Amino acid sequence: MPSSRPPLEAAPRPPAAPGADFLPFALPDLGDEEAAAVLECLRSGWITTGAVSRRFEQAFADALGGGVTAVAVNSATAGLHLALEALGIGPGDEVIVPTMTFTATAEVVRYLGADPVLVDVDERTLCICPDAIAAAITPRTRAIVPVHYAGLACDMDAILALARRHGLRVVEDAAHAFPTRYKGRAVGTLDSDATVFSFYANKTITTGEGGMVVCRDPALLRRVRVMRLHGISEDAFDRYTSRRPAWFYQVVAPGYKYNMTDIAAAIGCQQLRKIERFLARRQALAARYAECLRELPLRLPPDADSGAGGQHAWHLYPVRLTAAAPLARDRLIELLAERGIGTSVHYIPLHRHPYWRERYALRPAQFPRAEASYQSLLTLPLYTRMGDADQTRVIATLTELLC
Ligand SMILES: *Cc1c(COP(=O)(O)O)cnc(C)c1O
Repeated sequence: MPSSRPPLEAAPRPPAAPGADFLPFALPDLGDEEAAAVLECLRSGWITTGAVSRRFEQAFADALGGGVTAVAVNSATAGLHLALEALGIGPGDEVIVPTMTFTATAEVVRYLGADPVLVDVDERTLCICPDAIAAAITPRTRAIVPVHYAGLACDMDAILALARRHGLRVVEDAAHAFPTRYKGRAVGTLDSDATVFSFYANKTITTGEGGMVVCRDPALLRRVRVMRLHGISEDAFDRYTSRRPAWFYQVVAPGYKYNMTDIAAAIGCQQLRKIERFLARRQALAARYAECLRELPLRLPPDADSGAGGQHAWHLYPVRLTAAAPLARDRLIELLAERGIGTSVHYIPLHRHPYWRERYALRPAQFPRAEASYQSLLTLPLYTRMGDADQTRVIATLTELLC
């Protein structure tokens, strides 16, 4: 054997994996193309933000269409922080966020000294509920951060109408939503102020860690670019290619270190080229779950209305146990794990976490729909490298446990 290293496709499994044929709930899909692109980047001698990041930004913006500009960052969390900072969110301001999300959506509001106001979600989609937003608006409200839960677009017409009526900014947390479409348009090209995508390892495309801020407003883009790299008026790449002396730069603000490396961007460029195949595979897996699980005591996630130009990205496949189920959610997760099937819960609502609960004196009764959903919620395995036989095993095991 020339090497005992596993092939690149055999990505490491989660530490909790009890056996060799453990099926995790998510895995990245990386191939020889990504490996070659990374190697080429390493050999080029330029590994931080440079030409490859520029190429990834352009390719991502082109993939969305709609005349948007994309700015690459080292995580969606960084991107959300930058977008809200560029909009001037600060101490005393309130930003409305759904409780059914990852803590990153809300924590960035705290970075800026502002207060996230958690609101309940829509019972059917688990996306932020426009009526709950309307009820939460106060004179201090400055912005709304809708999360396109699981890869299904929020009710953006209602959210944008509310925002216009009350003079609020909208930053979409699109960590799950590439490529999601809403009424014929790609998420990222709607009429919000900015949209932020994630390329974390389990998202629909990955750069290991990474994110993208997408928007159209030149002033906002300028601020995001400056704050992405230490508040330096232009990034290092420009410094070394412009006609000014290479050593000269100007700091115009106390910025952050949020730039994407060219190593990550090299992976991103290759992932982006595979997006049609990735989406088709996710759609096929979701369609088969919908077909084969419909008789079980499970509430399945709603698809997008394709007749109205919608498209679900199927980042996640979250199901809810119905009252007819013979066992509770926690027990089902345990039994699935014993049978080698990984699941997760998206999400433990933010109002249940000690920091958010205590800081804002939150009670479960304020979020009845998120609460009820959380009790019965689990995410089934769905990722592009999952084979038909893997899915058959998930379906057969669920059928055995729930009938
Ligand atoms: C993954 C995720 C994030 C954070 O993305 P990172 O790239 O890991 O910072 C934010 N919001 C939601 C809803 C997510 O799922």
